[in-house]
Amino acid sequence: MAVNKLHVKKDDLVMVIAGKEKGKSGKIVRVLPDSGQVLVENLNIVKRHSRPTRGNAQGGIIEKEAPLDASNVQMLCKGCNKPARTGIRVLQDGSKARFCKKCNEILDK
Ligand SMILES: [Zn+2]
Repeated sequence: MAVNKLHVKKDDLVMVIAGKEKGKSGKIVRVLPDSGQVLVENLNIVKRHSRPTRGNAQGGIIEKEAPLDASNVQMLCKGCNKPARTGIRVLQDGSKARFCKKCNEILDK
């Protein structure tokens, strides 16, 4: 099975760099590796009409995050406070961490 490795993962703080949500930032709540998409908290909200279900007896309109293309988001760098291109670096203990190509800040702790 081919794993489509994305440059972002769950709980990353990212900024949208393209599309209608451009310039907004938020936390990734879910990654969809198969489609190369991510769900970002409170971004790209769509309204959906839902039928009554057991958990939601009335049904109605649900506001829900729609997936964004992962290539349209970049990690928000803590060092330079900007969306950053990231690289992978192998640390001294052998683990891999992503870093900001602009300021070299390690973005994985
Ligand atoms: Zn940086």
